[in-house]
Amino acid sequence: MAVTPPMPASPRLSIAGILEPRRVAVFGASDDRGKWAGRIMYYLALHGYAGEVVPINPRREIVQGKRCYARIGDAPNIDVAVIAIPAGKVPETIRDCAEAGVGCCLVISSGFAEIGAAGAALQQEIVEIARAAGMRLIGPNCLGLINLRNGMALTSARVLEVEKLIQGAIGLVTQSGALMLSIFNRAYDAGIGFSQLVSVGNQADLDLCDFFEHMIADPATEVVCLHIEGLKDGRRFLALARRARQAGKPVVALKTGRSALGQEAARSHTASLAGAFSAFAAACRDTGIVLVDDPDVMVLTAAMLQRFGPCPAGGIGIVSSSGGIAGIIVDRLADIGAPLARFAPETEDRLRAILLPSHVVNPIDLGARRPETGETDAVAGEAVRAVAADPGVGLVMVPLTTAPNYEATATALASALAQCGKPGLIVLTPGSVAAPIRTLIKEAACPLYDRIDDAMRMLRAYRAYAPPAPHRPSAPPQIPVRPMPITQRGYLTEPEAKALLADYGIPVTREAVVRTAAEAKAAAAAIGYPVVLKGVSRRVVHKSDAGLVRLGIAGPDALERAWAELGDRLRAADPEAGALLLAEMAAGEAELILGAKRDPQFGPVVLAGAGGVFVELMQDVETALAPIDEAGAEALLQRLRIWPLFAGFRGRPPLDAAAAAQALVRLGALAADLGERLGEIDINPLIVRPAGRGVVAADARAMLF
Ligand code: ADP
Ligand code: MG
Repeated sequence: MAVTPPMPASPRLSIAGILEPRRVAVFGASDDRGKWAGRIMYYLALHGYAGEVVPINPRREIVQGKRCYARIGDAPNIDVAVIAIPAGKVPETIRDCAEAGVGCCLVISSGFAEIGAAGAALQQEIVEIARAAGMRLIGPNCLGLINLRNGMALTSARVLEVEKLIQGAIGLVTQSGALMLSIFNRAYDAGIGFSQLVSVGNQADLDLCDFFEHMIADPATEVVCLHIEGLKDGRRFLALARRARQAGKPVVALKTGRSALGQEAARSHTASLAGAFSAFAAACRDTGIVLVDDPDVMVLTAAMLQRFGPCPAGGIGIVSSSGGIAGIIVDRLADIGAPLARFAPETEDRLRAILLPSHVVNPIDLGARRPETGETDAVAGEAVRAVAADPGVGLVMVPLTTAPNYEATATALASALAQCGKPGLIVLTPGSVAAPIRTLIKEAACPLYDRIDDAMRMLRAYRAYAPPAPHRPSAPPQIPVRPMPITQRGYLTEPEAKALLADYGIPVTREAVVRTAAEAKAAAAAIGYPVVLKGVSRRVVHKSDAGLVRLGIAGPDALERAWAELGDRLRAADPEAGALLLAEMAAGEAELILGAKRDPQFGPVVLAGAGGVFVELMQDVETALAPIDEAGAEALLQRLRIWPLFAGFRGRPPLDAAAAAQALVRLGALAADLGERLGEIDINPLIVRPAGRGVVAADARAMLF
């Protein structure tokens, strides 16, 4: 009998309903806190979960003082059921839950898709049962969730073994349950609280984006942290990221898989340079998501954003307890491109009342206090207030070594910072001797960093967040109307690819495909010497590596010799090839690579970078989602290390950045028009001439589906 898959029913419970359940059932309930289910029940009681907890266990009547039910079907209506039994028994339990009208099953059990085909089949089975009933699933293979607002801690981890959880306004969604618990514990130690934490495990039903979407709308969540291994639906993620941006809710994301960049066997430069990670990074940049590479940095950055909002414009003001540590901080700030503030004259006047006149400049060293000013604590507090009041200071940083009058000084610094009205933080460098100081700083509710490195990495990420700019409409690129639809497929030769580019208004070299020496000479005469001769082949990826490029051919005799040589080589490299390309010898000041490819998650992306035959070596490439407007294209070029060349480097003329940006805009339009048919397009090099004299594509390659 053929089994038709059941139609999905509409969900019984919304995400908000799952996070605020009235009644939670715990399978395998026990009085023993050594067992996971026993612990979950204990933590729910410990943290004051407002709803009702319903134990399920056929061998018990009362568990932890609550009436226990043998079967879920006997229990009163359950919103969320927690399941951590062996995988093989999960389908049966899921079926019971579906029949009993449960809203959502939180499946902690592992042994599903993460272990291979057999597990995947089991996972599919539970998804089908749940979908048919309109019951939602979290997991399997997750470690639960914590909602700090109602004390609903549905995880058995001992990180909950604390008297009082910290309620905060940071939401976290992670694909790793173990990481969720580590992050939670670290943040707890740092005094940082969350609104909700959710580990989504295998995302068999509810996924990262479902909870991301919820947190964007959730008034209790002001900043969202995401730990992402792989996305199910890149387009949806993009749409949500844009929605978060419009809502002014910062998102800090940690994505793994960066090192996979460029591991695919690449048939073009674009394929080897624009891996999946760079498309993700481009998506983040385009939508204002702050991308970090470390869980601590993610939470520390989120905590700064939540507490102080976006980092104000202005420089960093430093008040330190030692010139030595201040010097290190100044260097490290330079490394991350964070400017040091220059104090206004009024600030210097104010500081002169407490510090030696020679020491009223940034960074402040409290060791230089006027001898008559009394104890360091009064001077310390006043120094922080004076620096924070300076109009050019955006953020105050206090690197603290051991110091005279230690406790009083640290207290004064911490409370002045906490109340100064600008983002401020202490970096506490000593070890155990500063243990009491740590407590004092935390009590003053002042952000505290134990390592310079953490502070710098946070600061870089914090400064990278920019609130959404008012929408600035930009004119769509003026693309000439295509004379014909794009019909080519597979690998395009250089002249074919250039013809496509030319249709989109990207300047290409004047050139002709030639099949005899006489044709070559005629073409050269028309184009004008010097000329370039190249082999035309679908097969050869790097023509110069195969000796198929001859530049600067000065006249007909040289052309004749080049013809003979290249013809032989071409036949050897690719027996199907029969033609050569005769092109003008283009001159310019710099070579760029422009590329486009279709990312499986985010659709068309474009890239630009330092071009020529050493692109992979230079790795100076930036990526953006396509289509891209002129402002976006110029901003992309400005992020390149070679950008100073465009401004005119060491007496060289400034380059035509506008024309390069325009070429990128047009390539983006072509990429977007190709849609699903886009494989890869490479322009390498795009020769860039001095300002006002344009650009020209000297080589191109494309793969279309
Ligand atoms: P490939 O990238 O397949 O090795 P190219 O056509 O890019 O071959 O040629 C290699 C290099 O030769 C280019 O990076 C560029 O520096 C130079 N070149 C190629 N064609 C021209 C041209 N028409 N004018 C000036 N330089 C050119
Ligand atoms: Mg090339």
